[in-house]
Parts: sequence; C-alpha cells; structure tokens
Amino acid sequence: MSFPLPFSSEFIMDLRYIPFLLGALYIGFPSAIVAMLTIIPYRYIIGGDGIYLTLVISTLLFIIPFLKGYFFKLNSRKKILFISSIAFSESLLTLISIRILDDVPTSHMILPGAAYILITVLGACLVTFLIEDMFHYKALREKIYLETDKLSTISQLSASVSHEVRNPLTVTKGFLQLLYNDNVPEEKRKSYIDLALSELYRGEAIITDFLSLTKSNQETVPLDVVKELNYVTNIIYPYALMNKVDVQTSIEKEHVFVDGVASYFRQCFINIAKNGIEAIPNGGALQLTVKGNNTHVFIIIKDSGIGMTPKEVEKLGTRYFTTKDKGTGLGTPLIFRIVQSMNGSIDIKSQPGDGTEFKVTFPVSSFHSESA
Ligand code: ADP
Ligand code: MG
Repeated sequence: MSFPLPFSSEFIMDLRYIPFLLGALYIGFPSAIVAMLTIIPYRYIIGGDGIYLTLVISTLLFIIPFLKGYFFKLNSRKKILFISSIAFSESLLTLISIRILDDVPTSHMILPGAAYILITVLGACLVTFLIEDMFHYKALREKIYLETDKLSTISQLSASVSHEVRNPLTVTKGFLQLLYNDNVPEEKRKSYIDLALSELYRGEAIITDFLSLTKSNQETVPLDVVKELNYVTNIIYPYALMNKVDVQTSIEKEHVFVDGVASYFRQCFINIAKNGIEAIPNGGALQLTVKGNNTHVFIIIKDSGIGMTPKEVEKLGTRYFTTKDKGTGLGTPLIFRIVQSMNGSIDIKSQPGDGTEFKVTFPVSSFHSESA
C-alpha cells in the first residue's frame, strides 16, 4: 500500500486484498479482522477519497471468511481457481468503481487497469500455489516418516514371524510322517490330522496378522481397544517368544472404544511393546493392562527391562534418539505423535534396572454409545 499504482490524486491500486483473501480463507475471521484493522486505518492515513471505496469493498469482502468451510473441501487446483476468481472479481469491482467515482478517461485506465487485474490474479494464484505445495510436502513427509517406521518394524519382526511359522510346519511335517505308516489306528489318525490342521491354522493366522500390518487404511473410526490390543499381542507374540519374554494381559475394562485410525493405533502399541521386549535382555515379563472409567481408558504397558535414566526418559520422542545398535530412533516419536493425534497423553515411569511403565490415556469414543 506504501508503493501503489496511483490512478489519480484520490485513488490508488495495490495488492492489499491478497493477504486479506488468503488469511480469510485459510484462517478465517480472526485473520480477516486483523487484515482489515490494518488496511482501513492505513488507507485513511494515505489520504484521498479512496478510503470510502475501501470501506465499501472491505465490508463486501467480509463475506469471504464464511466461505472457509467450502474452500477447505476443494482440492489444490480448485482452491487456486477459487482464489483467482475472487481476486479477479475484487480487482474488477475496484476498477469499475474507480471509473464511476473518478473522472479518469477510460482510455487512460485500460492499460494500468489490465496490469492491476493481471498482477492481483497472478499474485493470489502464486501465493496459493506455494501454500498448497507446502501443505502437500508436509503431508508427504509425514507419510514417508510413518512408512519408514512401519517398514523397519516389519523387517525387525519378520525374523521372529518366520521362526514362528516354521513351528507349525515342523509339527505338521512330523504328523504327516507318522500318518505315512499304515499301522496307525483309525482314531489316532484322526487326532494327528486334527492336530496338524490346528497347527496350520495357527501358522496361517500369524501370517494373516502380519500381512495386515502392511495395509494402511487411514479412516478415523471408533476402535475396540481390547480387540486392537489383542491384535498387537498376536503380532508381537513371536518376537516376545524369541526374546524369552512372557506377555501377560490383564483386561479390567472391556467393550471400550476410542476414536482413531486402526493401523496407527496398532503401530503405536507395537512400538511400545517392542521397545519393552527389547529392553529385556535375559528374559522377563511384559504386562499389558487395560483400565477405564466413563470418560477415559488407560492402557498400561510395563516391562521388567533395563529401564532408563531420567535423562533418557527426557530424550524419548526426539527423532533418531536410540541406544540400540540396530535402532532407528523413530519408534517413540511416532508413539507420541499418534497418541497426540488421538487427543491422548502418555505418562512414563522408569528406573534404571527396574523396568519401564508406559501409561497411555485416551478419551473414550464420542461416536460409540457402548463406550459411555
Ligand atoms: P529404537 O527402538 O529404534 O531405538 P525408539 O524411538 O523406539 O527407537 O526408542 C528410542 C530409545 O528409547 C531406545 O533406544 C531406548 O534407549 C529407549 N527406550 C524406549 N522404550 C524403552 C523401554 N521400555 N525400556 C528402556 N528403554 C526404552
Ligand atoms: Mg523402538
């Protein structure tokens, strides 16, 4: 506004409505009000009859923050188009008003007028493009981060999963070898087949669970806490077995629901449980407890591991902080982020040599009536 395109002694043209427009659509009323409280007094100080036009156009433009809801539903391309058309209408309206109010000859207005419209529209277009691009990369970075952690979890768990699948195969192989013998009585034969089948079902279930870890549905729904945690203990079970850790669960509250994305919720608790197991070098226990009241659910994961110093606890959640040779330091930051995104909180108690307790608190689902 300090360096405008002057039309006459009374009227000036500048790009003041671009920040107004962007703020009103991306942020809403607070931004629109602040922009107007800057634009109007400043236009008054500059002087000239243009202040009346500014007042009229500003009042008209206060309709824009109402369109925020609609704007947010548009994709990036349509957002750019939407902002450009408002910028076009606004600059055209200003131009026509100046033509009516001032006695500048039309021929003197055509070139600067066209330049004004073009610069306003291009400016609005460019800034929106940059904002959208920034949002896009932010979302992409977040996704890469989640996927990286998931891939590292999968590769670390896969050794124990294959090991766990080999057991049912070995057992089945043994039964098949026994069945090869013609002298096996009929009832024994049946029970061998039953046993072999149940082992195969178990192997199949392990693989199914493991594979569903790679699927990512990103819909927020009410999640059955106990069911999801059962999934987590199933996934983590082979890994615990390999590390001589006994996983104990104690469910004090059933049929309790929290709002979240299933795959994130699972990934969060797989990470907590996996860290617990990894903290136990020579065998021990990992206890998982679910408690709750009418408003909140508490999930407590306690390990009998090496524990952490207060300094280490403080560093939890910092990206790339790890004390393990093959660690990534991506697990706990993810835990914190997922819990935060679900409006939950984490409380960590740890003593070196005395194990660690993660207590995660979530508000119960607002959609699911059974949780009330
Ligand atoms: P990573 O497991 O790859 O090292 P995390 O972000 O999951 O990365 O964990 C970061 C660090 O926090 C671990 O290296 C470990 O030192 C510490 N930590 C996390 N959970 C526990 C736990 N239950 N017991 C002891 N130390 C833990
Ligand atoms: Mg970890």
